[in-house]
Amino acid sequence: MNFADRVAIVTGGASGIGRACALEFARGGAAVAVVDVADGATADEAERLIGEAGARGVFTFRADVSDFAQAERVVAAARSRLGGCDILVNAAGINDDAPVWRMTEAQWDRVMGVNVKGAFNYVRAVAPVMRGARAGKIVCVSSVEAFRGRFAVANYAASKAALVGLTRAAAADLGREGINVNCVAPGFTRTEMTKKLPAEILEEAARSSVFGRIAEPEEIAGVVAFLCTDAARYVTGEVIRVDGGQLF
Ligand code: NAD
Repeated sequence: MNFADRVAIVTGGASGIGRACALEFARGGAAVAVVDVADGATADEAERLIGEAGARGVFTFRADVSDFAQAERVVAAARSRLGGCDILVNAAGINDDAPVWRMTEAQWDRVMGVNVKGAFNYVRAVAPVMRGARAGKIVCVSSVEAFRGRFAVANYAASKAALVGLTRAAAADLGREGINVNCVAPGFTRTEMTKKLPAEILEEAARSSVFGRIAEPEEIAGVVAFLCTDAARYVTGEVIRVDGGQLF
């Protein structure tokens, strides 16, 4: 996929699905701005890999996506350092699981703050720029948990369902200016997030896929990147499940 003259901002781009997206853009020749709270070593490693993959430029912003004011500053800095802002991928996300009778207010607020407000903050920050350019591609990373009831994920499932609403409403708001806003909903994918889960949950997830395995981050990133190409220009407000049939 060709992203030769593009600048992509990828939140959560230091690890997992976000990093795989950043690498896909880099392979297509884009300049990439990573927005992440990851530790220095993780961020440096991601930046090195993105550079080696062929990025025209790469810059990491150590920023918490849940900070509204900072989002505007990050987007402004990305534009001045890398020369634009054509693509936004909202991949930063966290989970903090507990059954609903034990979930604390702090657990709820933290997950909603990063997963939902974080995505809003960056859509809000890029929207005026993309409207001015009368072009842009935005992809939010939701989850199959938006569409099913699994144990102990009320905050996470609610946040991922909210991203579907945000995507559709933003697609309506921004379509007139030629901006596409879409969502991918991955099933279980092999990343740092799922590394923390008990083995039996991952085994069950693998069994539930028609392929008998969970996804690799690259398999999510390929669909995200496709949504950011011209081939997908008439796709907007859409949610694409990338779950190997885990949700059948
Ligand atoms: P990951 O932990 O490997 O990557 C998440 C990245 O987001 C990390 O680099 C982390 O430092 C960053 N991040 C976390 N909080 C942040 C914040 N406040 N501000 C900026 N950056 C922050 O996990 P992943 O699996 O690659 O997750 C990426 C996205 O995919 C998340 O939104 C997640 O909910 C979603 N997702 C993951 C799976 C899965 O099975 N792994 C399935 C469906 C959806």
